Amino acid sequence: MSKQVRVRFAPSPTGPLHIGGVRTALFNYLFAKKNNGVFYLRIEDTDQNRFVPGAEAYIIEALEWLGIAPDETIGKNEKFGPYRQSERKPLYRQYADQLIDTGWAYYAFDTPEALDTARKQQEEQGNTFIYNHTNRKLLDTSLVISSEETAKRIANGDAYVIRFKTPVDETLHLKDIIRGDVKFETSLLDDKVLFKSDGMPTYHLANIVDDHLMETSHVIRGEEWLPSMPLHVLLYRAFGWDAPEFAHLPLILKPIGNGKLSKRDGDKLGFPVFPLEWKAEDAVSSGYREKGFFPEAVINFLALLGWNDGTDKEIYTLEELVEAFDLNRIHKAGAKFDPEKNKWFNHQYLIKQKDEDLAKAFTPILESKGISTTPDVTTKIVSLIKERASFISEFWDLADFFFVAPTSYDEKASKNWKAETPALMQELISVVEEIADFTSVNIETIVKDWMTKSEIGMGKVMQPFRLSLVGALKGPHLFDIVELIGKEETIKRIQKAIETL
Ligand code: GLU
Repeated sequence: MSKQVRVRFAPSPTGPLHIGGVRTALFNYLFAKKNNGVFYLRIEDTDQNRFVPGAEAYIIEALEWLGIAPDETIGKNEKFGPYRQSERKPLYRQYADQLIDTGWAYYAFDTPEALDTARKQQEEQGNTFIYNHTNRKLLDTSLVISSEETAKRIANGDAYVIRFKTPVDETLHLKDIIRGDVKFETSLLDDKVLFKSDGMPTYHLANIVDDHLMETSHVIRGEEWLPSMPLHVLLYRAFGWDAPEFAHLPLILKPIGNGKLSKRDGDKLGFPVFPLEWKAEDAVSSGYREKGFFPEAVINFLALLGWNDGTDKEIYTLEELVEAFDLNRIHKAGAKFDPEKNKWFNHQYLIKQKDEDLAKAFTPILESKGISTTPDVTTKIVSLIKERASFISEFWDLADFFFVAPTSYDEKASKNWKAETPALMQELISVVEEIADFTSVNIETIVKDWMTKSEIGMGKVMQPFRLSLVGALKGPHLFDIVELIGKEETIKRIQKAIETL
């Protein structure tokens, strides 16, 4: 029987979760659910300098809002806990020591100043300085002094780090589920620090130790981690552990131009790159939730950034995504982020909502405008305008004329208000006044009958009629508006237009 699928999302709490990180979490979630596996969240907070308060809570809240909460994490099914690396601190040292004992790692005592000098010296000779086999014998390491001397310096309290001793002259042929075979030359890698002078492991050591101890079967993460893959695979080899399978997800690219999607692109083009709003001391960054996106829409568009199921299907529920998801169908090439398409997704989810629910969500906006109306009317109005909206926040602009008479008239549309228009509108008022059954269909029949009988062209009446009621040539079916605002208000608005235009 093959191993249980256990995958993880392992963010560092250095700020709000970027939308690219959310997609990584989503793909891990989908893969886990598809394979009846476990999706867990591990907080990688070993770099105390980059720790940002509130970021961890933000990450958890974002995953919950999106409906992709982990099966295991801090405070939840802590089978392999703790799930916060800072709380696992005592356990990493022994692994660093193990690598020293087996010759896979060494102590490096270089001070920052000494490293700086070494770097400069190399650069003066036209070389780039790499801390690896080309330099390691020239530097202040346990590789060039005796073990007694090393022990003495450590006992003396000399500051040191532990570095990985990367093998020389080996070509690594590794397998990535998305990229296929990838090749790395070990001689080009640097001897990464595994354990820092502050007693904390680095990302690389903690990540491998934890992926092993937490029985991770697949590492699914962003492409920016691909360069770390050879080191990670070598670490598994050094420990004598089976490595998990790897899948490096394509970058999410800017909507315009080249390169990775950044917060600046979002600011420039007016869309969020974070799931939830993030308040920092100096600035607020907008979030999809606060912008009025439905979590299902965000999930849907993120899933299609770099993946498709081979068909033209675009709208998926989370369950359908789980069903259809396949790591082998993720593209290698970066995926362009399209804010307009994201809005389109939100629109699709908006029109799927029940009118009653949309009306409920619209009510606080109406109240804030001082409008009081009935749920039935709001529901009716919502049903008429939702086809034109991507967000509930757009409802007011699409529906204001249902509640308040126009205070001005669109200039261009007013050009259709001709010399004969006032008389026609006056006649229209008399027709409307006589209508007893004031329902859309009936009003339409009577008004159109009158136009036919009097041989008046449609455009001559309909455009000025709409302009009178709405103030512009926009809005849903005219006679639906007439029914909803009522006879009295309809007449009042036509009269006002006759006086004004
Ligand atoms: N802590 C890393 C990050 O911030 C995790 C990378 C990985 O998944 O290995 O993305």
